[in-house]
Amino acid sequence: MKKVLITGAAGFLGSHLCDRFINEGYHVIGMDNLITGDLKNIEHLFKLKNFEFYNHDVSKFIHVPGNLDYILHFASPASPIDYLKIPIQTLKVGSLGTHNLLGLAKEKNARILIASTSEVYGDPLVHPQTEDYYGNVNTIGPRGVYDEAKRFQESITMAYHTYHKVETRIVRIFNTYGPRMRLNDGRVVPAFIGQALRGEDLTVFGEGLQTRSFCYVDDLIEGIYRLLFSDYVYPVNIGNPNEITIKDFAEEIIRLTGTEQKVIYKPLPVNDPLQRQPDISRAKEILKWQPQIDRSEGMKRTLEYFKGLSHEELYRSEHKDFSSYS
Ligand code: UDP
Repeated sequence: MKKVLITGAAGFLGSHLCDRFINEGYHVIGMDNLITGDLKNIEHLFKLKNFEFYNHDVSKFIHVPGNLDYILHFASPASPIDYLKIPIQTLKVGSLGTHNLLGLAKEKNARILIASTSEVYGDPLVHPQTEDYYGNVNTIGPRGVYDEAKRFQESITMAYHTYHKVETRIVRIFNTYGPRMRLNDGRVVPAFIGQALRGEDLTVFGEGLQTRSFCYVDDLIEGIYRLLFSDYVYPVNIGNPNEITIKDFAEEIIRLTGTEQKVIYKPLPVNDPLQRQPDISRAKEILKWQPQIDRSEGMKRTLEYFKGLSHEELYRSEHKDFSSYS
């Protein structure tokens, strides 16, 4: 049985990857320090013989006994309000954590795929964003800790590929949504759905004219799976090119949930990118991949998930005190 290590296993994307690799017949080692992840996302896997869980911070030395065939590095805070609360941890998991995992991949002769992001393009001056665009990032802005960690992550990954001949893959993930997003992580999908379900007004930041392009999680996981098993070492955008303004998206959520609430406007966060849409020509050509689930279907499935949360979960302001992390 082939063995795969998935970091960030208790998070949104990591937990869906664990499910996928279990379903494909792999032995899965999930690793997470639970700073932003939640064991609830993977509790259904604990009874399986081919699933193991290590509670570990990947920015510290990583020991995994025995052989390892694949590593998928998905550990990281991934929402702008988390970067503000845990900036050092965000920098460390993308830099030191990636270094440790590349070392582990070299030691085990394992293929490693790292989760990069559309944030490497910053507030993009090229639209839609192709992989060849170098980006427009403010290194010292509030998002810099995430963006620059991910940019460093890509550099060190390519260096391990060229210098140590490690088999590497890099996915640049655009806005993704679906079941198991953390309700209070501040990202727009759980924020709007949570507000609608609690009967609160929907908070649009700025004038809501900034755009995003939302990909349903199952599509993203399929793209990542194909990339891992391709022989392509350069970054590949995975996302859904269907672009919408945040204001229109709020209206869409109001219609979908049938809430009586309205849109209210709040200040635009610093360095909030004005526009974002993936150019997925490379994924189409190399991976024969493109999204299959449109926003109306994906949002219906996502709403079902959030409706299934308990009253306590829906009203909890934040499930974590980050103050003990450094
Ligand atoms: N946003 C919003 N209201 C919210 C949360 C987010 O208008 O309650 C906006 C945010 O300013 C950004 C977009 O929605 O323009 C997407 O934000 P998110 O945090 O989901 O991800 P980002 O793509 O900015 O990393």
